Amino acid sequence: MILLPESFENRMKIILGPEFPKFSHSFSNPIHHSIRINPKKYPEILNLEPVDSCSTGYFLSQRPIYTLDPLFHAGVYYVQESSSMFLEQYIRQFPEKRLRVLDLCAAPGGKSTHISSILSDESLLVSNEVIHSRAQVLSENLKKWGNPNVVVTCNDPRDFSRLPGFFDIIVVDAPCSGEGLFHRDPSAMNEWSDANADHCAQRQKRILADVWPALAENGMLVYSTCTFNPAENEENIKWLSEFTPVEGIKLDVPDNWNIVTTQAGSIPCYRFYPHRVKGEGYFTAAVLKKGNINMEFSSKSKAALPVAGKAEQSVLKGLIGNYPVSLLKFEENFLAFPTELIPALDQVKSSLRIIHAGIKIGEIKQGSVVPAHELAVSTIVNHAHFPAVDLTLEQSIHFLKRDDFPLDFQERGWNLITFLKHPLGWAKNIGSRFNNGYPKEWRIRMSTSEYTGERLAEEAEKFPKLF
Ligand code: SAM
Repeated sequence: MILLPESFENRMKIILGPEFPKFSHSFSNPIHHSIRINPKKYPEILNLEPVDSCSTGYFLSQRPIYTLDPLFHAGVYYVQESSSMFLEQYIRQFPEKRLRVLDLCAAPGGKSTHISSILSDESLLVSNEVIHSRAQVLSENLKKWGNPNVVVTCNDPRDFSRLPGFFDIIVVDAPCSGEGLFHRDPSAMNEWSDANADHCAQRQKRILADVWPALAENGMLVYSTCTFNPAENEENIKWLSEFTPVEGIKLDVPDNWNIVTTQAGSIPCYRFYPHRVKGEGYFTAAVLKKGNINMEFSSKSKAALPVAGKAEQSVLKGLIGNYPVSLLKFEENFLAFPTELIPALDQVKSSLRIIHAGIKIGEIKQGSVVPAHELAVSTIVNHAHFPAVDLTLEQSIHFLKRDDFPLDFQERGWNLITFLKHPLGWAKNIGSRFNNGYPKEWRIRMSTSEYTGERLAEEAEKFPKLF
């Protein structure tokens, strides 16, 4: 039996009443493992138990060592806790084709990769993380996910007031006291205290107030936490509704999803308890911004990125398929960005600190292209343009570790390296050997020496079966 912090336990007894013993026992239950498929890379339905609230979410019967699965590195799926996948229910409330969406507290990228899969190609996702090191991880995950209509920024929430009324949807997955993580990671209890929970509630209010001006009138703000604390949940939503005119969003949630509906004033909120759902603790609510309180946004296009020249375009065009993207020059590199979103990119660039945008295509050196890694794992790479070498599982692990290993090529130059036809990266065949283009900072660092032959095959049995 897990010993919960006393004041947390007392509060939960009041909230849950007779349900408390079931809640308390759930901390000793096994953890559920779930993944979300990248529909641009793998559009099939899987023969696995689906997550109710998410069209691309599935449960796994056991936890694989994801690091050993090349498809995980190829961005074919993302490992995500199932309760958080409920976000899809809100995003789907907006069937408009062209949306500007901000994921404000986005690292490591669970919600952002999910949002990116739901949005149309004509929509823009700005995925922000205030902590620089975490923003790098966020960028890596979004590059692996591979969609071009994404910008990663590293800004404080208050910086977004420079873009008044810019976004149709803002997702605030707020830093919180993390009570919903106690089951998965009991050590999280050591950092928990009433004082810290109060501090989180204050910080969340500040984040909401800071980002609010960036939401368009009738736009939707989705708020979520992974805590059960009412002060960080319903009370913050109520506070927001007192501070500014809003309208709650009521979702059609089937009873058998076992999600608990609560109210923050007139705003419906949804609570996920681990004794009721096959997932961790989670809270979410969404509001529409009402009242004509938008300030005009004036676009400053002076910060626009230059478009690649004609000669450069002709060298680069073949590398990407028939996507409606423009090729822009950024320092020594070229990047592909959806043409009709370029004015929005310029606006974001003039107000925020961008650390990644679109898909980096590569550099042109002495008339030929050095392809960027993120092009290989993107959803726009033109497979037909490159010779490819499909690796075995064991070879793929060597490639992802950047080990020296023998490889047979048909052609010289840059080859697309794939596993089960899903690109992992580039290798340049220079005759007697090859240069591994897999980024050093992304390479597999764990020791894999015990995972060869039968032992590796045994582990591979636990990978999500996508083939
Ligand atoms: N949405 C992410 C996902 O689904 O993968 C998880 C986000 S996590 C719950 C909260 C994030 O907020 C963390 O990445 C944290 O670094 C960031 N954060 C911490 N303090 C913040 C602040 N004052 N303002 C905005 N974000 C903050």
